[in-house]
Amino acid sequence: MSFDLSLTGAQQDLVERTHAFAEDVIRPVAAKYDKAQEFPWEVLEKAAEEGFYSPLFYRDLIGDPTGLSLPLFMEELFWGCAGIGLAIVMPALALSSIGQSATPEQMLRWAPECFGSPGDLKLAALCVSEPEGGSDVRNLRTTATREGDHWIIEGHKMWIGNGGIADVHVVNATVDPDLGHRGQALFIVPGDTPGIELVRKLDKLGCRASHTAELRFHDCRIPADHLLGGDDKLNRRRERARAEAEGAAAPGRRSATLGTFEQTRPMVAAQALGIARAALEFAAGYANEREAFGAPIIDNQGVSFPLADIATQLDAARLLTWRASWMAANNVPFRHAEGSMSKLAASEVAVRATEQAIQTCGGWGYITDNPVEKWYRDAKLYTIFEGTSEIQRMVIGRSLGAAVGTPLHYDLPVDGGQLNRQLGRGTPLRTRIGAAALNAKDHIPAPALRAAMRFLAPPNRR
Ligand SMILES: Cc1cc2nc3c(=O)[nH]c(=O)nc-3n(C[C@H](O)[C@H](O)[C@H](O)COP(=O)(O)OP(=O)(O)OC[C@H]3O[C@@H](n4cnc5c(N)ncnc54)[C@H](O)[C@@H]3O)c2cc1C
Repeated sequence: MSFDLSLTGAQQDLVERTHAFAEDVIRPVAAKYDKAQEFPWEVLEKAAEEGFYSPLFYRDLIGDPTGLSLPLFMEELFWGCAGIGLAIVMPALALSSIGQSATPEQMLRWAPECFGSPGDLKLAALCVSEPEGGSDVRNLRTTATREGDHWIIEGHKMWIGNGGIADVHVVNATVDPDLGHRGQALFIVPGDTPGIELVRKLDKLGCRASHTAELRFHDCRIPADHLLGGDDKLNRRRERARAEAEGAAAPGRRSATLGTFEQTRPMVAAQALGIARAALEFAAGYANEREAFGAPIIDNQGVSFPLADIATQLDAARLLTWRASWMAANNVPFRHAEGSMSKLAASEVAVRATEQAIQTCGGWGYITDNPVEKWYRDAKLYTIFEGTSEIQRMVIGRSLGAAVGTPLHYDLPVDGGQLNRQLGRGTPLRTRIGAAALNAKDHIPAPALRAAMRFLAPPNRR
């Protein structure tokens, strides 16, 4: 499907419904949950009643071939509050990793367990990062060892959203340490499995309504069928990785975890857009109201220019995000690291926008009477999790070797048939027809000329 900026009716309704939810349900309680650092159960219940907390809802958004539904939803929700937004969408991150690896039977079994239903909500967590390092996923030390009909998980995880309180933990563990990240697999560890220890809930700078924890897995025994994708798929991947290491095969696929990050980066980027937009709107509104030296402060270019830069960078980041999301929805490979570009641009503009909002509001921006100081704290997370800004630059930098000299549009799928190739805009035949019509203009009756001009004129002049 072609990339298209116009919204469908359903997308427009989704934007309006999500915005109303963010404004009426999330914003009024955002400061309370931020201060108390409490999990917003009541908001999750309302989100579930609204249909925003269900595997089918996310399946629908991810399956939208325009790619726009998911980022539109994320931006509006996180415009309300990023901490509460994370609490609502955390199971979708876990679901995305299940979707990358699971068999259809596993998907059917575990997807409902990640969300539950209104009145009986459930939570899910994606457990990848470890205290020794989150960026270098090849170096993860949690292990999964097979014993008869069970896997035994041993390890230590850090910064895990919903960790220890989730009903479903999707855990990345090493099965074959010699194969680096290719020797890792994802396992479902139900929350009531003996051996999961919630070491502590982490005390965070921002996004404080979301629950983030340090976890230990000690002699954590799970049935063999909790390996996502199953034994055969794992064995095939290990064989392929060994053959590659010995130079006997072409490079194969990446690990399930890395695949998940690629898929979820535009989704996380759209969350950062929501924070940035909230900050820009607030700052612009304040700058128009606040007077200094007898005039609104927006009249000073020192105030309006930085906001103009933010507005420009925000739209640029949104377009990168929509593009990456469209590519993901249409299975166009991220050859130029387009997912990383979207995450890098959106997270960095969120930090700049929130900082500029504080600057614009002066002393009123620095105290908790206004939400901008909270948005600043929330935004900072986005340059750290789901791959730090440095890691995004590393991915983009690596892609440059292969991509130099080939702009993105050279790689995009080609739409339109043979007729378009012969008569489409810019084709020589079309230009010759136009030139012939111009040469003959004095001999052609006016109505026929007008009809020809209707065909040749730009669309908005017709
Ligand atoms: C609030 C919060 C929620 C989180 N939620 C989850 C979650 O739900 N599940 C989960 O698995 N993880 C989660 N994380 C973990 C997060 O993904 C990691 O913190 C992140 O990947 C960075 O890893 P690290 O903290 O170990 O930093 P490190 O990897 O130790 O990096 C430290 C610094 O070195 C830089 N650096 C590292 N390597 C390079 C390099 N090659 N080149 C240049 N610079 C480099 C990094 O960019 C960073 O600035 C969360 C983190 C936070 C703070």
